[in-house]
Amino acid sequence: MKDTSEIFGENVFSLSVMKERLPKETFKEVKAAIDNGHRLSEQAAGVVANEMKQWAIEKGCTHYTHWFQPMTGITSEKHDSFINPSDDGNIILRFSGKELTQGEPDASSFPSGGLRATFEARGYTAWDPTSYAFIKEGVLCIPTAFCSYGGEALDKKIPLLRSMEALNKQAVRVLKLFGNDDVNRVTTTVGPEQEYFLIDEKGYNARRDLIYTGRTLFGAPPPKGQQMEDHYFGVIKPRVQAFMKDLNDELWKLGIMATTEHNEVAPSQHELAPIFTTTNIATDHNQLTMEIMKKVAQKHGLVCLLHEKPFAGVNGSGKHNNWSMSTNTGANLLEPGETPYENAQFLLFLTAVIKAVDDYQDLMRISVASAGNDHRLGANEAPPAVISIFLGSELTEILDAIVNDIPYGAKEKELLKVGVHVLPKFPKDTTDRNRTSPFAFTGNKFEFRMLGSAASVALPNTVLNTAVAESLRQFADKLEGEDDFTSALHELIKEEIKAHKRIIFNGNGYEDAWIEEAKRRGLSNLRTTPEAVAHYLDDKNVELFTSHKVYSKIEMQSRHEVFLEKYTKLIDIEAKTMLEMAKQDIFPAVSAYSSDLASGTGNIFEKETLDEISEDLDKAYGSYKALKSALDSSSKIDDLVNKADFFRSEIIKDMTELRESCDKLETETASDYWPFPTYGDLLFAVR
Ligand code: ADP
Ligand code: MG
Repeated sequence: MKDTSEIFGENVFSLSVMKERLPKETFKEVKAAIDNGHRLSEQAAGVVANEMKQWAIEKGCTHYTHWFQPMTGITSEKHDSFINPSDDGNIILRFSGKELTQGEPDASSFPSGGLRATFEARGYTAWDPTSYAFIKEGVLCIPTAFCSYGGEALDKKIPLLRSMEALNKQAVRVLKLFGNDDVNRVTTTVGPEQEYFLIDEKGYNARRDLIYTGRTLFGAPPPKGQQMEDHYFGVIKPRVQAFMKDLNDELWKLGIMATTEHNEVAPSQHELAPIFTTTNIATDHNQLTMEIMKKVAQKHGLVCLLHEKPFAGVNGSGKHNNWSMSTNTGANLLEPGETPYENAQFLLFLTAVIKAVDDYQDLMRISVASAGNDHRLGANEAPPAVISIFLGSELTEILDAIVNDIPYGAKEKELLKVGVHVLPKFPKDTTDRNRTSPFAFTGNKFEFRMLGSAASVALPNTVLNTAVAESLRQFADKLEGEDDFTSALHELIKEEIKAHKRIIFNGNGYEDAWIEEAKRRGLSNLRTTPEAVAHYLDDKNVELFTSHKVYSKIEMQSRHEVFLEKYTKLIDIEAKTMLEMAKQDIFPAVSAYSSDLASGTGNIFEKETLDEISEDLDKAYGSYKALKSALDSSSKIDDLVNKADFFRSEIIKDMTELRESCDKLETETASDYWPFPTYGDLLFAVR
């Protein structure tokens, strides 16, 4: 058997593979293209393609695909074989530079938010050499960007790469002011912690809601849920352990550094965390991780649920986006450091993030908005829809001292001067001591905790990178040309923290008192996707993205549409699934039970149960008809904004009512009659 170091990265056409296999000159060109975001020459692309093909064939591949991330949020691929006819009637295996660098999927069915109507019907994919090619299920996958012929981004990757470029540009400007002349590149880094549920496939296959929507639309709470808190970090069951082992192997082969695994709070809930890497690679890796989780689960007779809220009343699943910035010289810009100079630089970058999150709270909220995540944000386990930053008391005191010109720490008399004094050491937030904050500083990085488990991390990072780039741009504009840099820096930090301290909150984010307090502070509380997305095209947001060349206005308009479209389509499917399950499964089952009760021995149990059930069934049927007619009227609404709003206000309300009465019926109906597995069956089946 191979050991981990042998299998790690064995399916990746990585830098080291390229170094080994490519001619020196070509390798140099590829390396430069990766480091500086340049294009490869046609000739070099041809050489790379040929070697890549050779490598893939040696590993048993017959096909290749451009692998991309359309606005749906999942990944797409279309396989083509290497086979080409040769002159003598046989075949040769070929893969050209052009096939490597550019592809043309039939893109007409991907969401474009009207972009394709305005522009070209076709889209094309272009190789992104910053992310390595890899082999998945015998197919050579080439990570690509996806855009229209007019150059508009049709995917999540292009804006992400643009946002990394925007941040790079401004961060390097700022670093030059601190005399870092050896720094010529700043990249953002991400380590996403992925939560998921694992349930037995038998239970899954017996429920249409799970199959169609990835979550349960009905289900009474079982006697045992997560009250005992006996699952979190509990002993991992053998079947789950076997799954995790396989999963790790598969991820390692793809060069994904999966490292931490543990049980989460809810029964059947688990988490996987990789070691962080460059943001665009982390994004690709997270997409792959989700895909491979599902595939590996299948091999173990399990189903991996990535939905943000598969079960009502039990914790949902999130994705913690650990984020920082690092230089080509290896410095983490959110690491406080040890000298006054390092401290000052750290404080400025910290301030940039604080300002960014405060100025663009709405975009941060929008970046995690989806119908699925709406169930989670504001529910008991997840951060509320209000954005705030947790800094910890030590760092908050330091900032207070700077803002208020008050002495800090032991040296009572001395005022803390940025750039002159050394900050005291403060402990890292290693223990997750504030789990309730949506955006927490954890020692040398920020953890954005509002992301839903199913979503791509591309958008939240695009927003974060761009908003921080904007803070840094303003800072660089102010500080460049200042004679007394240290004083100007001190003043700037002081003013900015004063202006943005409302966003800092170290208390319990789950308390109602905080929501009240947040309101007083003027923080936004956008509870649902339509309410959040309504701010996407606000002038300040369009200005942000267009000025940093992350999105054009047209690209933003198209994304606005895609957001609303996706939201309404999803809820539409859920509502239809509910109608189907109620009418075809639940009502007939309850009816059958009722008639058996009616023709029973006539004892009090039968009589009273029958009365109760009849009443509840009538109520449920009433809710069914209300939902059905609301759904009918929704189909007559053309305007997307109004439609999404109707789904948010009317359809969801009717769905909730139908669920309530059906869940009550579940508790009253004999279990033999109930048409599908209950919560108890689903949550405790895996041993
Ligand atoms: P914690 O202190 O929160 O327990 P860990 O070191 O366990 O932190 O890391 C949690 C996640 O954060 C991991 O995925 C890790 O790779 C990631 N992480 C650590 N440092 C950084 C960084 N500088 N940038 C981005 N992610 C990071
Ligand atoms: Mg976690």
